[in-house]
Amino acid sequence: MRYKQKKKNKKRLIYMEITFLGAVNEVGRSCFLIESKRTKILLDAGVKLGEPIAYPVIKDEIIPEIDGIVISHAHLDHCGFLPHIYSKGYSGSVFATKPTIELMQVLLSDYIRVSEAKGLQKNVVGRIIKNSRMLEYKQEIRIKDLTISLIPAGHILGSALIKVSDGHESVIYTGDINLSRTRLLNPADLRQLEADALIMESTNGGKEDIMKAEKERENEIVGIINRSILAGGKVLIPSFATGRAQEVLLILDDYMRSGRIPKVPIYMDGMINKMLRIHRHNVVYCRKELQMKILMSDSDPFKSENFFEVKGKAERNKIASSDQSSIVVTTSGMLNGGPVLFYITKFAKDSLNVMVFVGYQAEGTLGRQIKEGERDVEIDGKRIHISMDVKYVRISGHADRAQLEIIPDRISRVKKIFVVHGDPERSESIREFLSKRYYAIIPKLGSRHMVKEYQSHHQKAEETHHQHNTNRHTAQYGQHSARNKEAEERRSQQEHPYKSNEGYHPHFEEKGMNRENTEA
Ligand SMILES: [Zn+2]
Ligand SMILES: [Zn+2]
Repeated sequence: MRYKQKKKNKKRLIYMEITFLGAVNEVGRSCFLIESKRTKILLDAGVKLGEPIAYPVIKDEIIPEIDGIVISHAHLDHCGFLPHIYSKGYSGSVFATKPTIELMQVLLSDYIRVSEAKGLQKNVVGRIIKNSRMLEYKQEIRIKDLTISLIPAGHILGSALIKVSDGHESVIYTGDINLSRTRLLNPADLRQLEADALIMESTNGGKEDIMKAEKERENEIVGIINRSILAGGKVLIPSFATGRAQEVLLILDDYMRSGRIPKVPIYMDGMINKMLRIHRHNVVYCRKELQMKILMSDSDPFKSENFFEVKGKAERNKIASSDQSSIVVTTSGMLNGGPVLFYITKFAKDSLNVMVFVGYQAEGTLGRQIKEGERDVEIDGKRIHISMDVKYVRISGHADRAQLEIIPDRISRVKKIFVVHGDPERSESIREFLSKRYYAIIPKLGSRHMVKEYQSHHQKAEETHHQHNTNRHTAQYGQHSARNKEAEERRSQQEHPYKSNEGYHPHFEEKGMNRENTEA
């Protein structure tokens, strides 16, 4: 049997391979090139927001050769590169779930507007949407010799794991994944999955990244909000437009209806409103309880009488100058743009007010600065002293460390794990843990790897193949030899020559991005 298997493999001219074009030792620019004998596809096409924005390290020449792009979910670190890649000549299809396509339309339009990204074609978002192909969960489609399917990932509305198979080998990419049930979504569905390799996110890969129980977290938020409101203060909750915002709104509404939070207006400002409407009409993608609530009772949680949409500057000013307590949920989650900055400048001086962070605060953001204790900050060129209280209750849409430890065990046959989408220490921590039972690596930026391990004579074929293709796909410089024998991969673990300036695309260096949608 084993011999037969080998013989079959030997006949094949090329094995399935993955090139890591981003999201290694970083949260941002997720983008992986999968190649089979006849097909090239991208899993995700994200950007890394920052100044300047970082792009996947893909070479322009490769773009016309791409047969399809599959998007795991509608966050910019997974789909923000789409306008760029279409403007650079890609004209094929984008595959994603229905909610992902709808959320992406809003998200990408906003991204282009606020980033003032250079070199983008007119109406590029329209072209992306026109070329979008809707996939139901677990529906299999073919892109030439590859079979693709999407599996619920539990991260945000419409989010998916992506499974790719060439009929001989298969790989599963987790995208961003959550194994916990949330108010909005069912957990990731890992039943009956099998693959040879796993590309796994590691946002919460650190040993301390263990989430508190849902009730405990909610009690904490409710306590903080009540203290401020009962004292006559205002509550500011910076949030990402998709995912955490809806989660927080459902919690607040529930507690307000049951009387555990005093009845005050909950203002939603920024893109959250549009995103909430997309959630409402895609409620079949949410968990059953939410669908039943809408069908069976009058209490539609998405159209709560407690929610008020903020329309325009005048209304914002009124909320800020009013004596009445209120809760404002607004973007951006990491304070690097969006209406939240206006509210901070207005709420900052009153110590009765409180700002509650609920999401990840990336390095280099104003959110991280304030979370770490900085109280004198600069917003839009003005020095602001923050007297209001600042709290942090993390509601994560990502698997925590304990969940990451068991994900590979829940998928049959996995031998290789590529750890991506995490800060370097976090990725390394979970990689080290998994390496006791799996061949687990953090690939180098731009490096190319086989999905499956083979015997040495196969490796020889692989090497020859690689020599022909050295640096053909990645906009990389010298140090990333495309050779990737397993021994080499292992050695590279010790080196980790991660350089923060690697992979910036010279054609796309924009500054001064003011953005709302920076969730990972
Ligand atoms: Zn992400
Ligand atoms: Zn995400």
